[in-house]
Amino acid sequence: MELILATHNPNKVKEFERILSPLSVSVTTPRLEEVEETGSTFEENALLKAEAACKETGLPAAADDSGLAVDALNGQPGVYSARYAGEGASSSDRNRKLLHALKNVPVEKRSARFICAICCVFPNGDKITARGECEGFIAFEPKGTGGFGYDPLFLVGDKSFGELSGDEKDKMSHRGRALRKFAKKLKEYEEQSKC
Ligand code: IMP
Repeated sequence: MELILATHNPNKVKEFERILSPLSVSVTTPRLEEVEETGSTFEENALLKAEAACKETGLPAAADDSGLAVDALNGQPGVYSARYAGEGASSSDRNRKLLHALKNVPVEKRSARFICAICCVFPNGDKITARGECEGFIAFEPKGTGGFGYDPLFLVGDKSFGELSGDEKDKMSHRGRALRKFAKKLKEYEEQSKC
């Protein structure tokens, strides 16, 4: 099956390809029209992006919407994770802003979770959705150079996502969890469609 992946984020593409590689799915990422993320949940935004990509290409299209919810900030930045430090800001800008917002927050109150919602829309209107979460803590300073985005600040145990290999991150990450659920549902969908 050819599956369009509606993202311009090469890190997300790598994670999708790593986890979907055992299935007979070829993932392509054509240039697509930008979609405004106007939803108030990860699921709504993933659906908006997948629906637009399916309509534009006429092919099954998947999208992920993901972000970081910090308990001490009442779940922020949440769906605004990519825009937390404004349009055009870098990952380092966002990480600096997050550390500043948590300046006086002690270690036991720095709990957070990464959340990922995946939605796949088929040309006949069928939909598959999957969600994954990963619990952790926000570090006091960036650790590690791997991964992307908030990874150097997100601690699971004593290591940040930025200190893990891709495979280690996939095993516990929000996207890894959502993608494994998604892969299972996609396989079932393909089998049913053949009947
Ligand atoms: P979107 O899903 O493209 O709207 O943006 C999600 C934003 O959340 C990214 O730009 C990152 O800042 C952050 N994010 C999502 N997943 C991860 C991850 O696995 N590691 C680090 N940051 C992430």
